[in-house]
Amino acid sequence: MGKIMKCPNCGETRFDLTTYDSMMVLSADVALFTLRCPGCGTSVSSLANIPSSLREEVRFAAIETGAGMGCE
Ligand SMILES: [Zn+2]
Repeated sequence: MGKIMKCPNCGETRFDLTTYDSMMVLSADVALFTLRCPGCGTSVSSLANIPSSLREEVRFAAIETGAGMGCE
């Protein structure tokens, strides 16, 4: 899929998805992230692949909310 977040304000692409302000999981590996741009501080929302380091966290959240996404 290779979705890359890009700041619409300054073009910054080096977002660290693990430091998200909010994350709305859409599927097992894609979520709508809201992050602050490390370059200019703008709040940016974008679809992005969920980093493997966040997958466990997502799975727990899915189980807790009964979203049924804990199963592969
Ligand atoms: Zn920016």
